[in-house]
Amino acid sequence: MKKTVLILLAALLLTACSNGNGGIQSVPADSQQNTDVVQTAAAGPQEVKSAKKDIFAMDTYMTVTCYGDRAQEAVDAAEKEILRLDELLSVGNPDSEISKLNEAGEGELSNDSKIMVEEALAVNERTGGAFDITVYPLMQLWGFTTQDYKVPKQEELKKVLETVGSGQLALKDGRLALGKGQGIDLGGIAKGYTSDRLMEIFEEYGLVSGIISLGGNVQLYGTKPDGSLWKCGIRDPHASDSDSSLLGVLQTADCAVITSGAYERYFEEDGKTYHHIIDPATGYPADNGLISVTIVSRQGILADALSTACYVMGLEKTIDFWKSSPEEFDLILMTADDEVYVTAPLKDAFSTDYPVHVIE
Ligand code: ADP
Ligand code: MG
Repeated sequence: MKKTVLILLAALLLTACSNGNGGIQSVPADSQQNTDVVQTAAAGPQEVKSAKKDIFAMDTYMTVTCYGDRAQEAVDAAEKEILRLDELLSVGNPDSEISKLNEAGEGELSNDSKIMVEEALAVNERTGGAFDITVYPLMQLWGFTTQDYKVPKQEELKKVLETVGSGQLALKDGRLALGKGQGIDLGGIAKGYTSDRLMEIFEEYGLVSGIISLGGNVQLYGTKPDGSLWKCGIRDPHASDSDSSLLGVLQTADCAVITSGAYERYFEEDGKTYHHIIDPATGYPADNGLISVTIVSRQGILADALSTACYVMGLEKTIDFWKSSPEEFDLILMTADDEVYVTAPLKDAFSTDYPVHVIE
């Protein structure tokens, strides 16, 4: 990802949920060092302690903000957990569990990886294969793993596509065996799992409230310290590197708000843009009419996998999918012709300048 994009994203994510005076504020790009900020926030009659940290991990800028007597301890524990999971899962690190598994073609899964692989297989099944962790060899072919981007030749793509399919994976007694030529990448689900883990940590430390912003993923612990709802800004996919316009703002609490968009990681060749969400059916970047997919759910892991899956599935299939289990998650979608769709339960909580269609 280009550095400017990273910085913009970081600034945007910091503003993604307002935590102070209720407004969406912009944060200077140079505030992105790994810093500790301890402050107090007004919360009704009593002051609540707070702590905040910016962390670069999982190839993205993250911010953890905690409120409560043990806020600083919670932030430190959260950072430790993020770094532990990054080390375990990163396909960019040859010593990670996932790299070793890809290298050996099989291996014992840690408890964390097992939960993610099981969820990934379940979502693969439920989305007709739109979410598939075996896209890894395709990610490599397109150069997304090395930033050595290129549009693959048809024959190369066809060959690699044969290795893609979660049906070729075998998970038994905590051991995962890959099919011939297969590799897995948990990049579409890892941040959601991580933010769920941080919610557990926040609980352990008895926090009043907390927010985490992990590269387009936001998860909220409770309400704001004063009891009001958080305001989560969702990035406008048309925003350029230098502006941070919003698609809209969602007022909510106690849930994950996770967005997949083509702008997160992409390259251009011959005037065409190629992004990092791959359609496992074609081997090409997904191009099914959606340009931004936000999933709102209590479960970060589900929201993360579904944001990628729905991006691949396109509008119609995504709407049908939501109708089959509306109690599990909600949607905010933007189509390539700038139509915004929101599921009925979010109707009043979401504000936008775009015309909105409500999915009932
Ligand atoms: P981001 O992690 O950039 O916020 P996503 O959650 O949509 O965005 O995940 C994209 C990542 O998921 C890619 O970088 C790649 O590692 C992986 N991925 C890409 N396409 C798929 C797919 N169809 N199914 C599962 N994982 C995918
Ligand atoms: Mg995802």
